[in-house]
Parts: sequence; C-alpha cells; structure tokens
Amino acid sequence: MTDDRSKERVAEPAGKPGLMRMLGRRPDPQADNHLVFITIDSCRWDTFLEARPENIARPFGGIDAIERRISYAPWTAPSHYNLLMGLLPHRSPKRVYASEHYKRDFVRYNERLGTRESQRIDFGSLIPQMWLPSFLQYKLGYSTHAMVSLPVLNRATPINSDFDRYKLMDEHNDMGKMLDRIEAGEVFDDERPSFLLMNTGETHYPYTIPGDDPEDLPPLFGPHGILRPVTPRSRDQAEPDPQNAGASGTTDADGSGERFEERVLDEAEMIRLRERQVRAVRHLDKVVFPRLYDILPRNTWVVVMSDHGELFGEGGYFGHGPILHDKVLEVPFLEGRLR
Ligand SMILES: [Zn+2]
Repeated sequence: MTDDRSKERVAEPAGKPGLMRMLGRRPDPQADNHLVFITIDSCRWDTFLEARPENIARPFGGIDAIERRISYAPWTAPSHYNLLMGLLPHRSPKRVYASEHYKRDFVRYNERLGTRESQRIDFGSLIPQMWLPSFLQYKLGYSTHAMVSLPVLNRATPINSDFDRYKLMDEHNDMGKMLDRIEAGEVFDDERPSFLLMNTGETHYPYTIPGDDPEDLPPLFGPHGILRPVTPRSRDQAEPDPQNAGASGTTDADGSGERFEERVLDEAEMIRLRERQVRAVRHLDKVVFPRLYDILPRNTWVVVMSDHGELFGEGGYFGHGPILHDKVLEVPFLEGRLR
C-alpha cells in the first residue's frame, strides 16, 4: 500500500462515503468478492471473435458467452472514465428509459461484489462522487489498484482518483508484466477485498506482442497514437470518402492539420494491421489469460472487455477516437466469478 489510510479502521461497519473520504478512513470489508476489470485496449468485437479466444472465455461458459456490447465512448480516456463510474459497456436496450437501464445494471454489483445484505447497492449508492473506486474504498472497505498501459491514462490524470496504487506500465503491450506484480503480492491480500483495473495494449496500434521487432513497424505519433503514413497516397490517387470528406475531399479528424490522403493506408496494409490485432488476441489467449486465471484468488469477479473498437478502413476511417462508426463502439464483453 502506498497509503496509510488503508491501515485505519473505524468502529461502525460503514459510513457515508463522502465523510469517510474526508476523514481518510475506510470501513471493514462489506463485500466478499475481489473485482477485476480488464480492458483489452482497442480490441474490436469481431477481431476478438475471429481469434477464437477459448481460454479467455472458458471461465464464463466459452466462446458462446462472448457478448457484443456497446462502449459509451470511442476512445480510451472517456471510456475508462465512464467505466470507473461503474457503467459497463451496454446492450443499447430499446424501449426502456436510460435511467431504468442504469438502475437495473447497478443492481448487478451486488452479485459482482458479493455485498452483505446491509450494504445492498442500487443506482443511488455512488452518489455524490459517482466514482467506483471511491465507493469501493470508503463504503465497502476495498483496496483499489490500477495497472494501465496507455499514456492517456497516466497517474497524473483525473482517472487516478481514490486508487491506493496506480501504475502506468513501462511497456504498453505486456500484460504479463502486470501478472508479475500480482504474483509479487501487490494487489491481493487477506485483509480486505481488492478492486483492480488492468488496461493492456497488445491490441492497440501497432498491435505488437512482447518480442516483436519494433523496426518492423510504422512510427506512432501523438498522445493517442495518431498514425503517420506508411504508404501515403499521392493526391491524385486519394479517393474522397463521402461520409468522411470535407469540402475539399479531405478531413482533419484528429485536429493535427494533416489531410486525410497524406496519411491514409492502403487496403492491403489495413488487412495486415487487422490480422495483427487478431494475432495479439491469440497471444493473450494462449499465453497471458491462462496464467492470469491461475493466479487470481478465489472469489474474484472478472469483467473482460474492450474500451472501444478500431477501424481498419471502413467508411474511410483508421483507428479510434474522433470517429462515428458502429465498429468503434462495438466491444467484446465477458463477466463472471472465477471460482
Ligand atoms: Zn483505448
């Protein structure tokens, strides 16, 4: 722990989270399950399925249990902010008020966390902070941890609020290093349940797994992984996209001032990059998740999902972020208690 608050106890079983937070105290544990959120960054729902990740899906009933859900946001920062408000990717339900959907979804936290009868959670439980780590710490007595891979989630951002331990990993694409930390005892102990957020970037551009030669890859620029040209088209070759084009037949979707045709990839490159994302999922499935499931303690509720999808040329788009397209919002989703 980096925080002495975790050592303190109070006599009453639970107080108001706002007051407890102000006092820097947390109650005795009020729930039985550890909770682990895993975001496989930028992983599309359909590339996840194409990889047939049987090991990842096994604890939840296998491949058929993989749901197609919708992310609340098309890029990393707002998606994680929303996730830490407790709002998991949704099913886009029709003929139901949004407020009713939130209520129904929040009730599931009782099952996820294994809350005691006196601490039943409903939609109003997170008010006023509306922040899951605060609620888990100061209402239910959890320790809270994050290991993230993308710099837009670094520990100086507001996302790092009410975490006992928050680590931006040295490599953006090595979830195995997070497992080393779990095995070293950084996250779970017998004193209280833990909440852990893991964000991993093997499936993020440039879709590399540990050991890949970075010389093989096109360069990555900008805070969000904005792409520079690999095989830039000449202006004559560029084909304006009717959905995406501005008046000049170009777009400046990332605000960089670059014109679309100056950094577009050709179709063969898009196919190759999409295959790399499938390969990255297979690596996680074969190498990382079996080990993860072995080392997680009993009574751990796991949610596996992506924070958003990725475009590989559809509609004239590449990547994620300032994109309005179904494929950037479709995400794979699995959840359940391990054992
Ligand atoms: Zn992301």
